[in-house]
Amino acid sequence: MPSILTVSAFSDNYIWLLCDDKQRYGAIIDPGDAKPVIETFEKKNIEAVAILITHRHSDHVAGISALLKKYPDLPVYAPKTEKITRRTHAVEQDDTIELEKIGIKLQILDTFGHTAGHISYYTKGLLFCGDTLFSNGCGRVFDGTIEELYQSLQKIAKLPVDTKIFCAHEYTLDNIGFAKWVEPENQDLLQHETTCLKLIDQDQATVPTNLADELKTNPFLRCDQKTVIEAAEKFAGKSLNSPVEVFTTLRRWKDTQYD
Ligand SMILES: [Zn+2]
Repeated sequence: MPSILTVSAFSDNYIWLLCDDKQRYGAIIDPGDAKPVIETFEKKNIEAVAILITHRHSDHVAGISALLKKYPDLPVYAPKTEKITRRTHAVEQDDTIELEKIGIKLQILDTFGHTAGHISYYTKGLLFCGDTLFSNGCGRVFDGTIEELYQSLQKIAKLPVDTKIFCAHEYTLDNIGFAKWVEPENQDLLQHETTCLKLIDQDQATVPTNLADELKTNPFLRCDQKTVIEAAEKFAGKSLNSPVEVFTTLRRWKDTQYD
């Protein structure tokens, strides 16, 4: 089993280090900053083997150059359709990456929406999904479309429910606040809030989350549920005829009233 280390960066980013079970080798996912990554590798004596990028935003890629200076031959896997300087391997849906030293194969999923070419990295039990799905929330739409983001979340929702979700930001408590606007009586959500408040209080990350919990608590994955539909219709002031309309309404509601 791979071992995954959490590196905090900036105010709320997570850079994930995907390592082999003995933590001898590590792949770096979305290095917005090189310094804390290099510090962790040096402290733990881990050898860097690859950089994996989910999308082009600077808080996910700004550390690439400094990492390549330190580790010159690292392959840089990144979305095929996004402009990412220093990319060595352009990847897209259904491509597979083999990280031999870590003993893992990762499948690429196109998860467009937050950006037009955003991808995620999946292997049985683990998903690294950048800014597509967050615990109890989802990414904003920058240069993708809301329909693409909806389809990307649906794609994630169909993965095995025990999949751990490694998203790139600590947004959970903030997201729970909005999720409670939508489903104030969702007991799973309220319980999740209690758990997360304790974790934050102890200075611990609330992520990774897992798909089973997200399906019970994340309104953006629950657009076919009666409570969520009713809340979205109340905000929209009209009836909504499909889950994608509910999803679009939730995203607009959060963007315009909550954030
Ligand atoms: Zn982003």
